[in-house]
Amino acid sequence: MKNQGRFTVLNSFKKITGNGKIMKKMILLLSLVAVFSCKSNAQKTEQKKEYPVSKSDSQWKAELTEMQYYVLRQAGTERAFSSPLNKIYEPGTYVCAACETPLFESENKFDSGTGWPSFDREIEGNVEFSTDYKIGYARTEEHCANCGGHLGHVFNDGPRKTTGERHCINGAALKFIPANKTNN
Ligand SMILES: [Zn+2]
Repeated sequence: MKNQGRFTVLNSFKKITGNGKIMKKMILLLSLVAVFSCKSNAQKTEQKKEYPVSKSDSQWKAELTEMQYYVLRQAGTERAFSSPLNKIYEPGTYVCAACETPLFESENKFDSGTGWPSFDREIEGNVEFSTDYKIGYARTEEHCANCGGHLGHVFNDGPRKTTGERHCINGAALKFIPANKTNN
């Protein structure tokens, strides 16, 4: 019998707990504990960091477009190939769409073919990194070090000739400042 082992375990568990009802209650209780502990951990990490630019959720909502708010404040992802910045290669600087901190330089931008603006490195010190498990496995998330706005993720399949990094960034999180305008 295939299930014999399972029944034996179940029966011995029933002997310990007395009957099935108590066991069900225990399982329910254990899963509730798991849900609550996950939630409180997540809240703790979110509240920990104070950024130089800190605004209330309603302030951000009022200042940003719907897509900027979704990406920067809710860690959302724009549709691939939807950002006009994806195909821009003119010299200039990419700044945070929320607080205008310079985050990436055009000389480090490359066409990854993914449909999202991609860079092989960030402007050091202006981007912070953390780990997220949003889609079931660990990814390195990156966000603006000045306002905490979510930008995208870093992967290790970037150009081998330079850093090997692929910073996969939502265009909605960025504003492009052409070089000739910053010189004036
Ligand atoms: Zn920012």
